[in-house]
Amino acid sequence: MHCPFCSADDTKVIDSRLVSEGDQVRRRRECLSCHERFTTYEIAELLMPRVIKTDGTREPFDDAKLRAGLQRALEKRPVSIESIESIESAISRIKHNLQATGERELPSRVIGEKVMEELRQLDQVAYVRFASVYRSFQDVEEFRREIDRLSSTE
Ligand SMILES: [Zn+2]
Repeated sequence: MHCPFCSADDTKVIDSRLVSEGDQVRRRRECLSCHERFTTYEIAELLMPRVIKTDGTREPFDDAKLRAGLQRALEKRPVSIESIESIESAISRIKHNLQATGERELPSRVIGEKVMEELRQLDQVAYVRFASVYRSFQDVEEFRREIDRLSSTE
C-alpha cells in the first residue's frame, strides 16, 4: 500500500500482530522512501447474503435487527454477563452459518430457523417466545406440540 506521507509505492511490514481476539491484524509499516512509520488494520469483510422477506422484497442483512430479535426474546429472562456474551457469540455463529451456505440471498425463514436453534440452547422460554412470534404459529395445535416437545426433554 502507498505511504500516507510521501505516497511512495513501497512500504514494508515491520510488525504484525493479531488484535481484538484475533478478528483483526494490526500491522506496523515503514516507508522505504521517507522512513515514516504507520499502522494499518486488516479485518475480514463479511459478505452477508441478502435477506428475502416473506413479501418477496430484499433487504441487506442487519446485525442490529438480529440482536434486537434475540434481546426481545430474552427480555425479562434471567440475564447475566454470560448471556450477553452468549448473544454476541450466537450472532457470530448465525452469521458464519449463513455465510457458509454460500448463497447470495436467503429467505428470512432460514435466518429465523438459525435464531431458533441458538435460542433453544440459550433459554427455552425465550425460544418458545421467539418461535411463537417468528413462526406465527397460525396453528394452535402446532404451538402446543412444540411446548410438549420441549417439556418432555426437560
Ligand atoms: Zn513515505
